[in-house]
Amino acid sequence: IMVSNYIIIVAGGSGKRMDATVPKQFLLLNGKPILMHTCERFYQYDKTLSFIIVLPVEHIETWNALCKEYTFSIPHKTIAGGSERFYSVKNALDHIQARPNTPDALVAIHDGVRPLVSAETIHKAFVAAGENGNAIPVITVIDSVRKVEAHGSSIVDRTQLRLIQTPQVFKLSLITKAYQQPFSESFTDDASVLETMGETIVLTEGNAENIKITRPIDLVIAESLIKSTDSIKRNTQF
Ligand code: C5P
Repeated sequence: IMVSNYIIIVAGGSGKRMDATVPKQFLLLNGKPILMHTCERFYQYDKTLSFIIVLPVEHIETWNALCKEYTFSIPHKTIAGGSERFYSVKNALDHIQARPNTPDALVAIHDGVRPLVSAETIHKAFVAAGENGNAIPVITVIDSVRKVEAHGSSIVDRTQLRLIQTPQVFKLSLITKAYQQPFSESFTDDASVLETMGETIVLTEGNAENIKITRPIDLVIAESLIKSTDSIKRNTQF
């Protein structure tokens, strides 16, 4: 059987840092829910990906209603999220494991609130993960950085630092094994879960627009970015 690669989009959080009653992944960006923009980026990249969308269980019906309202037609499976991002990812991996799959398949794990990921970022991560078993997109740090100490603070060499984005892409067998571990507070992304198994994490180039919409200001920035890419597309038609 021909088994495709997977994209797990985690949108299982309730978004406490955003002053809104609607979960942030459903807020409108250029007139359409953020999560739909996110899915479209991956669908445009590869229409053969199997889509798994993780949502808070109490919001799955809302999502289904939104899909009708916006005639969202990308085929996908919805899965209930967990209390931590770790459990949301684990639920999706369990779903894949329970069905026919190839251990060599690649699985990308992406934050639902990063709708501005570029095709290049997705492509580079998939290619490097195919060669190395894992890959995560990163960008360099432009601000100066200080570490707060018990007394005072100290400068950190920013040239040694990278900011971590998603999609983080893995060989299915590797990431499934990593997620068998018990939860730890130190797991802030999927690479941190894999790294505890002794794997070397492979870094690929991310894109600066690939922000995680977390605070109200992020939505303003994302709205402006999405309109400017749309207008670039329109302008190149003439
Ligand atoms: O909370 P944080 O900003 O790290 O969330 C990153 C992504 O993980 C978001 O897309 C969020 O919806 C998702 N998440 C999840 N399940 C949780 C917490 C967060 O799927 N329990």
